[in-house]
Amino acid sequence: MITNIAIDGPAGAGKSTIAKTASKELGFIYVDTGALYRTVGLNALRLGKDTKSADEVVPTLEGLNVSLRFVDGEQRVFLGEEDVSTAIRQNEVSMAASNVSAIPKVREFLFDLQRDIAKKNNCIMDGRDIGTVVLPDAQIKIYLTASAEARADRRFKELTEKGQQVEYDVILKEIKERDYQDMNREIAPLKQADDAVLVDTTELTLPQSIEYMLKVIKERL
Ligand code: C5P
Repeated sequence: MITNIAIDGPAGAGKSTIAKTASKELGFIYVDTGALYRTVGLNALRLGKDTKSADEVVPTLEGLNVSLRFVDGEQRVFLGEEDVSTAIRQNEVSMAASNVSAIPKVREFLFDLQRDIAKKNNCIMDGRDIGTVVLPDAQIKIYLTASAEARADRRFKELTEKGQQVEYDVILKEIKERDYQDMNREIAPLKQADDAVLVDTTELTLPQSIEYMLKVIKERL
């Protein structure tokens, strides 16, 4: 039997780091669905499109080939034959992804791809609408969150450690903006599924969050 674990939550709650570690421990693949929206956003940016405009973005989906490949359990995302796994992490792509993700045709375009992977693989899939829309029958659903301040603080540390010059207030503002946009869009807004377990990592360190998450999952498997 295939097991699917859905993890949803706002940007910067630690979904990917925690889910990556947990999936290794369980021998599952880890699927980061945000990478798909980021790839559509990146492509639209490269073509000089206004990422908020459905009229401009929808035609870019024509013939667009977005795919995920798994190398040693690591996800790589491809735009045609180009591995864009690094390019999609640029800061401006985050907002572009959030913008294009509010366009129904974009969500439709990426839907089957996500479903097919989950049908064929034991996986932990993370995103915004996995427990509510993409995998409503997932055996385990987790809503992973933390206060906006805690998330901004982590992101600030991560970027300054990489040597990037950033301002905490700007990061906090961007996080709040993306939360608002993701939670208030008409289609598939970010929200906790009725049957999801709420995990709040505001007061937890990363190792504590991972340990707690594994406990929640193992109790339910
Ligand atoms: O998870 P990540 O921050 O990389 O996602 C980028 C953006 O993609 C999110 O802000 C959200 O708007 C969108 N997204 C989504 N549904 C998902 C995953 C991501 O709408 N399942």
